[in-house]
Amino acid sequence: MHSNYEAVIGLEVHAELSTRSKIFCACPTTFGAPPNTACCPVCTGFPGTLPVLNRAAVELGIKAGLATDCEISRRVRFHRKHYTYPDLPKGYQITQYDHPLCRSGRLTFPLDGAEKTVDITRIHLEEDAGKLIHTKEGLSLVDHNRCGVPLIEIVTEPVIHSAEEAVAFLKALRLRLLYAGVSDCKMQEGSLRCDVNLSVRRIGENTLGVRTEMKNLNSFTAVAGAIKAEFARQVRALENGEVIYRETRRYDEQKGETVLLRRKESVSDYRFLPEPDLPPFSLEDGLVERLHGSLPSLPEARRTDYKALYGATEEECDLLLSSPHLASFFESCASQTPYPKLLIHLLLGEILRILPADPKATDFTASPTAFARVATLWGEGKLNSTAAKNLAMLVWQGEQDPVSAMERLNLAQNSNPHDIETWITQVFQAHPDMLESYRKGKTNVVKAITGAVMAASKGKADPVMLKTLLEKRLKSL
Ligand SMILES: [Zn+2]
Repeated sequence: MHSNYEAVIGLEVHAELSTRSKIFCACPTTFGAPPNTACCPVCTGFPGTLPVLNRAAVELGIKAGLATDCEISRRVRFHRKHYTYPDLPKGYQITQYDHPLCRSGRLTFPLDGAEKTVDITRIHLEEDAGKLIHTKEGLSLVDHNRCGVPLIEIVTEPVIHSAEEAVAFLKALRLRLLYAGVSDCKMQEGSLRCDVNLSVRRIGENTLGVRTEMKNLNSFTAVAGAIKAEFARQVRALENGEVIYRETRRYDEQKGETVLLRRKESVSDYRFLPEPDLPPFSLEDGLVERLHGSLPSLPEARRTDYKALYGATEEECDLLLSSPHLASFFESCASQTPYPKLLIHLLLGEILRILPADPKATDFTASPTAFARVATLWGEGKLNSTAAKNLAMLVWQGEQDPVSAMERLNLAQNSNPHDIETWITQVFQAHPDMLESYRKGKTNVVKAITGAVMAASKGKADPVMLKTLLEKRLKSL
């Protein structure tokens, strides 16, 4: 039944901008402050207060547009969007209506070994609303701390056709915003959240069906789940001859289904009107160009470099690029060692495991020169893999001089054939049973013998030389 239909999906993504203060007042934007301690008469909409636009919010909005190939509007104006809800004390939200800051952009990203482009209709600036907290006792409390936190809303064209495409787009968009420094994009803290607009039509049709909206999805899993559930629901309804209504629905993650919240308001219900307290203004000359020049290299360009210069695989690129700080650290190291693949092993195998999940974590205080040196020592055969990993961890924790640490801790690899022969002899004498097994043709015992020799060397035997010498000895048994 599903195979006769296709989903047509457009996304509206809200990202909180990484400003220190709110969009129209000086209150801080810190997440997790005690309720109602980060608000003032302006952001809670007291009569007589006046908004003052935060310059940093406009600049980050422009950066978001530049990072997604948008045209930037040189004229900035705001509107009031009216609605009543307990988390919106003003009774209206200051947003942009017919003059969004950015429009006509696009984002191209890898999908199933090919590339997909999603067109971006617009990006506009607006203020966030507060937050309702529903207690176990049945009370609903209002926390105004989030009122006036600057947001961008990124609206795509309805050109997405599956949950996989939607999630791949969101992941690529999240990385772009993260690298451009626009937002910290923490979905678990709500600083990146997504509304899904979805309609279905028979394959081959060109007209769009009636769409529904699923609001405030705050994980990739929820986005994928909501799309699959709503697609199935709409197809079922059409097959049963039912009418699809324009409505807002909520995705119930436990049940895996979407639930009606309300029939959709039309645009005229919001009574948009120009914000009288914020007169329109023009961006100063050269601002957009200056911001464009300040954008760092974006993740796709870095991915191309990592593959071409350092032989990184697609999966390694995904991990290295997962945090801008990890990527910068990798780049500083990679330019200082002829063994970038070993460097990648050390970073992804050891360091990534202990990194905090926070993509903004800044505890990259290790010396890139010292870290790169560990990869070089390993590459030159002066360390084996175990010693290299241990030394990498020491450097990560602040060791500045890996060469003297290697000597001090006696980590250097031993490639002296005489020493290795001695350790082999010791193991042969201690484990006649293993040699007996080998004589009977059980060649997999070689692994155990190798391990025992390595242990006898306290992990320092050169594994390549050990393998050669051991094979020789076993052949002559
Ligand atoms: Zn305030």
